[in-house]
Amino acid sequence: MTLDQKYMDLFRPKVHWGKIEVDPDKCIGCGQCVQNCPGKIPALDADGKAHMSRVECFSCSNCAVTCPTDAITIRETFFVEEGFHKTMPADVPYKLPAQPLDAAGKPAEYTLVEKAVLGRRSVRNYKEQSVPETLIRRILEAGRLSPSTGNCQPWRFIVITDKTLLDELATRIQPMAQMVSMMYRADEMLEALAAQYEVEPDPGLFDPRVQSGAQAIGEGILPVFLNAPALIVLLGDERAISGPEINIGICGQNMTLVANSLGLGACWVGFISLVNMMPDLMERLNIEAPYKVVSSLAIGYPAFKQEGMVAREAKPVTWFRAGSSGREVEQ
Ligand code: SF4
Repeated sequence: MTLDQKYMDLFRPKVHWGKIEVDPDKCIGCGQCVQNCPGKIPALDADGKAHMSRVECFSCSNCAVTCPTDAITIRETFFVEEGFHKTMPADVPYKLPAQPLDAAGKPAEYTLVEKAVLGRRSVRNYKEQSVPETLIRRILEAGRLSPSTGNCQPWRFIVITDKTLLDELATRIQPMAQMVSMMYRADEMLEALAAQYEVEPDPGLFDPRVQSGAQAIGEGILPVFLNAPALIVLLGDERAISGPEINIGICGQNMTLVANSLGLGACWVGFISLVNMMPDLMERLNIEAPYKVVSSLAIGYPAFKQEGMVAREAKPVTWFRAGSSGREVEQ
């Protein structure tokens, strides 16, 4: 390989994938962990028990959170050992949400808002049941009334409940995800990727987890829109103060929390942004500059439990406390 080390660090980082362990005595073979894993890492054995079938686990805990018998343990967590995407400050420990304390430091209960925020998970399995338009409108209101930089409100929404159109969009996006996945993985494509990167650098596109997601969608094992009965496409105005992405992030988080409060589930689907490269679909969806597709939210009734608190990286927090003479880094 003659490619500059800079690109090898970017395209071929050294990854430590996660590892799950299934207790065969507890597993009842329901398959929910398989359905709820975005990368389909677990699979059912011939004896009907779940086991880890692929290595690209990024320790999201979606398998564990849905397991009705608590049979799954996350034994090792994802981190990047070397390369551009190296995890800093290293193999960061995963921790569950800290137990709440009151203002005096005494044990307290989580507030309803904390429970909603900490227990919310991406829902990737839905019932066929359609979502009433009255509820979709309440979710839209949560987005419309979101905070935005300078009150610029740089969003527009497209609601799609037409299954034929959702299928058509998925059919167009899936082969593009497949192409992206193949380009990432093929060593003979690295020079072309490097040239493309120089024109439009976007390092996040090469995060190993994106490659894993593109492969799952490209191979058709993860439906693009998760077979959800409703999709809200989030358009951002490119003139937005601070850029459209942060404003859409705030707006979409409000929408997902309100969706959950209405008994629905939601999942961000970022692959919809590939539509920006398809002029015919942009016209059909009535999207014109300065708007662009930033992301989308799949919405529907969860087919089974997919929520709950999970452990996440606990990165160091730097404190400068009142009255202290310097900084204190809390691990
Ligand atoms: Fe077994 Fe739990 Fe997976 Fe169901 S969700 S197949 S019980 S490990």
